[in-house]
Amino acid sequence: MHLRVLLVEDDDDDYLLIRDLTGDLRDLEVELIRASDYDAGLKLLLDANIQTCLVDFRIGEASGVDFVRKLKGIGCDLPMILLTGADDTGVDREALAAGAANFLDKAGLDAERLERVLRYTATQSQRVDVSLSPMAPASAFPSPAEDGTMRILLIEDDEDDYFLTKELLSDVFGRQLALEWVSAWQPALERVLEGRHDVVVVDYRLGARNGLELVREAVHLGCGMPFIVLTGEGNREIDLEAMHAGATDYLVKGEITAPLLDRSIRYAIERRKSERHLAQLAQIDQLTGLANRYHFREFLDRSIALAKRQQSKVALMLIDLNRFKAVNDTYGHAAGDLLLKEIAGRLRRNVRPCDLVGRLGGDEFTIVMTEVDDVASVGATAERLLAEIRHPVNIGICEVDVGASIGIAHYPDDANCADSIIVSADTAMYAGKGQQVGCFHFYTPEMHQRATHRLELERDLRRAIRQQQFELFFQPQVDLSSGRLLGFEALLRWHHPEFGLVAPNEFIELAEESSLIVPIGEWALETTCAQLAAWRDAHMPEVHVAVNFSARQFQDDGLLDLVRTTLARHDLPPRLLEIEITESDILQNPAEANRLLTCFSDLGIRVALDDFGTGYSSLNHLRAFPGAIIKIDRSFVRDIETSTSNRAIVQSLIAMAHDLDLKVVAEGVENTGQLDYLRSRTCDIVQGFLISRPIPASAIGWELFSDNLLPRTFSEAEAVA
Ligand code: C2E
Ligand code: CA
Ligand code: CA
Repeated sequence: MHLRVLLVEDDDDDYLLIRDLTGDLRDLEVELIRASDYDAGLKLLLDANIQTCLVDFRIGEASGVDFVRKLKGIGCDLPMILLTGADDTGVDREALAAGAANFLDKAGLDAERLERVLRYTATQSQRVDVSLSPMAPASAFPSPAEDGTMRILLIEDDEDDYFLTKELLSDVFGRQLALEWVSAWQPALERVLEGRHDVVVVDYRLGARNGLELVREAVHLGCGMPFIVLTGEGNREIDLEAMHAGATDYLVKGEITAPLLDRSIRYAIERRKSERHLAQLAQIDQLTGLANRYHFREFLDRSIALAKRQQSKVALMLIDLNRFKAVNDTYGHAAGDLLLKEIAGRLRRNVRPCDLVGRLGGDEFTIVMTEVDDVASVGATAERLLAEIRHPVNIGICEVDVGASIGIAHYPDDANCADSIIVSADTAMYAGKGQQVGCFHFYTPEMHQRATHRLELERDLRRAIRQQQFELFFQPQVDLSSGRLLGFEALLRWHHPEFGLVAPNEFIELAEESSLIVPIGEWALETTCAQLAAWRDAHMPEVHVAVNFSARQFQDDGLLDLVRTTLARHDLPPRLLEIEITESDILQNPAEANRLLTCFSDLGIRVALDDFGTGYSSLNHLRAFPGAIIKIDRSFVRDIETSTSNRAIVQSLIAMAHDLDLKVVAEGVENTGQLDYLRSRTCDIVQGFLISRPIPASAIGWELFSDNLLPRTFSEAEAVA
């Protein structure tokens, strides 16, 4: 073990003494750095890579206790050991109260003692880091010896009482008793902190001092040992005081019998065990055994604090499984749990012991990587983890394939504190998901800009509803055989106060994610119905209007009612309204979508399956929606003239739909070549720039309702033939 130690000491002799002693240590290699006054010490502490600090109690007029207090006050969590002299009685307590981790009496100091205290203090300060590792559960003191020996530390200044207690203990434990007796406060505390006993029995009165103080100090220093306090007389005050100090039990000396002592000791040990268990429960995710959210956060905070001091890097990975929800929904929670456990194990097996794997909830995992020297190795780890996750997982009933997206951020490169590194890793994960699932992504500042832009847009979107910045444009749908107008598709436009007219592709996805699509969709429905009523009142020929609905709206229980009441309020027959939903939205929850669409159909509302052909199981789904209208996706129409495979798809979609008695709309028709082909395949309805772009309601006049809207050239050519 190597340790960089700062010694704040003005006295040259004392400095030499410590320096010589550190040269004599057995298993500890100490690099000693000296500061000869507190200011120099402070500066070195903030600059250099110090791991432990030895502070002389007296430097000129100043006090080491003040030095410790000051450093603790500014949040320095470096362990500090106060060096005291022969006449500095009572300083030890003051030092501990100020936040010192330990103290050492310079008088009679030897190498062994120095080594023990340095080693103990250093490991104590790292104790949490070590024990927080999920593979090594927190264990502040050892469990009872394997051979059943009861290791008891007795702290008692009265020799007679020592013999008395020893006799009782021998009665109880016989040859299994390993009793150690200490009579003075200072060595007693050191012994306690070494944590090599099963239980500590401590006298209430230790010379001029109080045994409870010792318990308090030990507990304060993180000692998790069971304590039993012995008192001269029993009263309720002492009882309470003992419990508050952290003792597990207290016994009145005159009343102690062997069975009582036996019971008390076993009870104390058991109670500490269950307390420890509870503490672990609070840190561990019960399902997977990984660190839970609190534990993760604590570890991250600590790792960053440590990295700050050691000028090292911390990497944070956020891992999101891709198809967890689908597995959970399809195979049930038990299967989902199995999946999570298996993934947890794979993650844990593929990181170093100094890294922490946690589950933040649901299918969100995290890894805190400490002691990171180069970013490339973090990428390699992410790569390995993704490959591990991709292996099929056996969930009992069957095997499933899941993937994951990983976002990675580094301290101090991408963030300067725990909160911001979490945000950065999350941004990276999110940005990655938008591009390609199953990959890992390092955080970049551009991601932040994009995320900020989205946030701003979301804020603007909220305002847009209130300030009525939306408008519906209408795009004609025309009967392919007659060229007559059948209806319109209503398409949303946003008049952004800064950016001008914004197309839906820029904001619909965002609106869906933030659920703002629900009020926006409500507005679109209401506006469409108001427009239909206005045309009716102006005695225009009857046409339908198709409104786009997104999956998120289908999750709302009130949707059916909303549609019904909106139509009724405007006194419109349901046949004038068409509901468009994309095939992929239906696939998100086929059963529920099916139920709702059937309800709409039954009411007489037209139902159109949008972007058809882009989903997975198009043709199978057709049968489930009798009476629906199929909208062939724009992408197939676009390449109809050049791509034989697209022609084949369009042709078979139309044929299939007609077999099932369904009407077909081709959208995105831009030229007469496309129109020709669609006509040759007896497509029913066309929509596209060739006929008209989406236009505002104010631009829709009588001529649109009465004219043949198909291009003249086409009709003429046909007439000549
Ligand atoms: P969509 O439902 O597939 O709408 C058709 C899109 O194709 C419209 O884009 C339309 O302007 C465009 N388009 C029409 N004819 C042509 C053509 O000949 N060539 C080309 N290249 N494009 C053509 P828009 O208006 O930008 O809408 C984009 C998408 O936004 C829509 O795709 C729809 O999914 C969504 N959207 C629009 N309005 C709403 C709404 O009120 N609610 C919901 N949930 N989504 C909407
Ligand atoms: Ca549409
Ligand atoms: Ca479409």
